[in-house]
Amino acid sequence: MNAFVHDAPPMRVVFGPGRLTDLPAEAARLDLHRVLVLCTPEQRELAEHAAALLGPLAAGVFAGARMHVPADTAAAAHDHAGRIGADGCVAIGGGSTIGLGKAIALESGLPVIAVPTTYSGSEMTSIWGITEAGRKRTGRDRAVLPRTVLYDPDLTLGLPAALSGTSGINAIAHAVEALYAPDTSPIIELFAEEGIRCLAAALPSTAVDPTDRDARAQALRGSWLCGACLGATTMSLHHKLCHVLGGTFDLPHAATHAVVLPHVAAFNLPAAPTAHAALCRALGTTDPAHALADLGTVVGAPRSLAELGLRDTDLPEIVNEVLGQPYANPRTPTHNDLEALLRAAHTGATPR
Ligand code: NAD
Repeated sequence: MNAFVHDAPPMRVVFGPGRLTDLPAEAARLDLHRVLVLCTPEQRELAEHAAALLGPLAAGVFAGARMHVPADTAAAAHDHAGRIGADGCVAIGGGSTIGLGKAIALESGLPVIAVPTTYSGSEMTSIWGITEAGRKRTGRDRAVLPRTVLYDPDLTLGLPAALSGTSGINAIAHAVEALYAPDTSPIIELFAEEGIRCLAAALPSTAVDPTDRDARAQALRGSWLCGACLGATTMSLHHKLCHVLGGTFDLPHAATHAVVLPHVAAFNLPAAPTAHAALCRALGTTDPAHALADLGTVVGAPRSLAELGLRDTDLPEIVNEVLGQPYANPRTPTHNDLEALLRAAHTGATPR
């Protein structure tokens, strides 16, 4: 048996359809009296609704969250929180909004309640990211970990089909890499397998009927478990590639994960037999890489990096950037391996 360390994060999870109404009780539980509600401009209506539920505990709404947390957005939100005397934040939305909450917490220590409306899993991690002059700085800090996460699957009924499918595969990617992470543990292996099983079962149904409440609840349950995997382990080649593709080439986060994952799985799983076996059980297949590619097709995810706007002349720079940064991976890719993997992902070829 392998040795392990499992360091469970000290956070509270509240889950269930309609549980958004628990928000005032959860804020009171943290002794918050002046809460700033964060959201993107697109989700202002939902944030106003959350503020109305908070009633006298709400101090305002900041509807300026943006993808990859630009430093000026983080500074504006932090100033706003200071001006209104906020003693905590509610981040209601996807990874971008939760990322803004984390940036405020990093700067000020204000507690955050996260109310996720996508499957990004950011709410379960102490990873923060702030983008300045085109470069995303990231780090881990316990101070940014949300104190409470409130999962209400009803809030995901309006998640657009395209984002729903890719965001779900983004979540699966966390669990796949947790299965072969150097710091995985027996609990994380259980979380990962069950998280993948939930999402793989639910996503095809949500693609057919986005308002299928049972499927939405199962998908969100899966994304919680997969997010916990991301928070507890070190990610490998897949996340490194997606970080470069998103950070340097500005490719969309979730869609990039959906395209790249089957190719990395095909490369890594022959060197990770325990992860391979868990994925076979979770996906009900003997060929997980192809099953992941098929899942992408079923949910309508893009198939190639070319579709996302990457040029094939960009591939050498990505190979060099990824090889230049050390990371744990079950199989060490050579220059040629990485080039072949990226070429296949770029054209949308069958993973091999
Ligand atoms: P997002 O938060 O950028 O959301 C995309 C769009 O969808 C936004 O306009 C948002 O308002 C809208 N939206 C979200 N939920 C909706 C819903 N239920 N109904 C209708 N519209 C909805 O997308 P994302 O993929 O959740 O997050 C991506 C960002 O999160 C990236 O910046 C990524 O780096 C970060 N991330 C961070 C971590 C971490 O641990 N720090 C983990 C995963 C992702």
